[in-house]
Amino acid sequence: MLLRSLSIMERVILPEPSRILELYNALERYYGDLKWWPAETPDEILIGAILTQNTSWKNVERSIYRLREVNLITIDSISESSPELVAEKIRSSGFYNQKAKRLVDVCRTIRSFGGLSSLSELDDDRLEHLLLSIKGIGMETMESLLCYIFGRKVFVMDKYTFRIFGRIGLLSEEDRIEIRHRIEEVIKDNRKLGNFHAALVNLGKDHCRTVPECHGCPVSSMCNYYMGLTEGGSAHIR
Ligand code: SF4
Repeated sequence: MLLRSLSIMERVILPEPSRILELYNALERYYGDLKWWPAETPDEILIGAILTQNTSWKNVERSIYRLREVNLITIDSISESSPELVAEKIRSSGFYNQKAKRLVDVCRTIRSFGGLSSLSELDDDRLEHLLLSIKGIGMETMESLLCYIFGRKVFVMDKYTFRIFGRIGLLSEEDRIEIRHRIEEVIKDNRKLGNFHAALVNLGKDHCRTVPECHGCPVSSMCNYYMGLTEGGSAHIR
């Protein structure tokens, strides 16, 4: 264990807990409690998490609405449906044939394990491994399910996290797991971790877009890019 820790420390410079907390507090002050995930049931969270892969949430909302119209909004109902019927309802989510098959397969697999309630009895490690063993569930989707369905103290690392943390100066992409675990060590609360992710998604849409709009950004005072400490930064300092 010690050797493992040392080898990780040699490879990765983890962000200071104080900087993670500074970012978390600034975002919580700015956005408040965002009450994520935007869904009515755990089954809907799962469905949304699959549909949002490689597409925006706005597109997913239309698909969820159409699935609700025909009562295809539970793991059981989707398991018993055909990929063709699901595909017809989720066209707005893009790659709809592929996603419909993936969604039906994931729902059937979860049902074969006894459903979400059976999975909720597993400890964090076993649940993480089991979810990752299901075709169609990658790291980000697994993290979302652990955080928002199962209430585990897990942080969701997505493209907004990488972009914002990268610009602020908190990570490089290869450090994914270590950085995630560091964040979970610092913010030891499921609600706060879920809200942190939600706030980063909002910041990524409101300010830290592909081309950043730094004016009015609530975390500019701690951002390397804004301070001109990162290549391409400083253009917004007046
Ligand atoms: S100051 Fe600019 S680059 Fe830094 S986090 Fe805010 S929007 Fe992104």
